[in-house]
Amino acid sequence: MINFCCSQLSSWFYNAGSKGFSVVPKLYEDDTYTIFLQARNQDIEVREGKLSVGQQAIIYCPFCGSKLSKVIKRNKEGIEFYTKKNIDLLI
Ligand SMILES: [Zn+2]
Repeated sequence: MINFCCSQLSSWFYNAGSKGFSVVPKLYEDDTYTIFLQARNQDIEVREGKLSVGQQAIIYCPFCGSKLSKVIKRNKEGIEFYTKKNIDLLI
């Protein structure tokens, strides 16, 4: 698993697309990133039932309070990896 500010947030990056909470980064045209907190009622693989996804941009890590702009600067490769991997998960 790629490490960010704390193990809980690292897990949320890893869990993107799974039922429950996760975080998904998005790269904008001005080369800045935004981290979205996402909540899903079912895994991405599930093809039946009604999928609900909620999404909200966050500025601080909800677990340890780190400023995410600093977290991004410290692990740009990790953020780039998850940006490409999870681009289709954003709503
Ligand atoms: Zn953290």
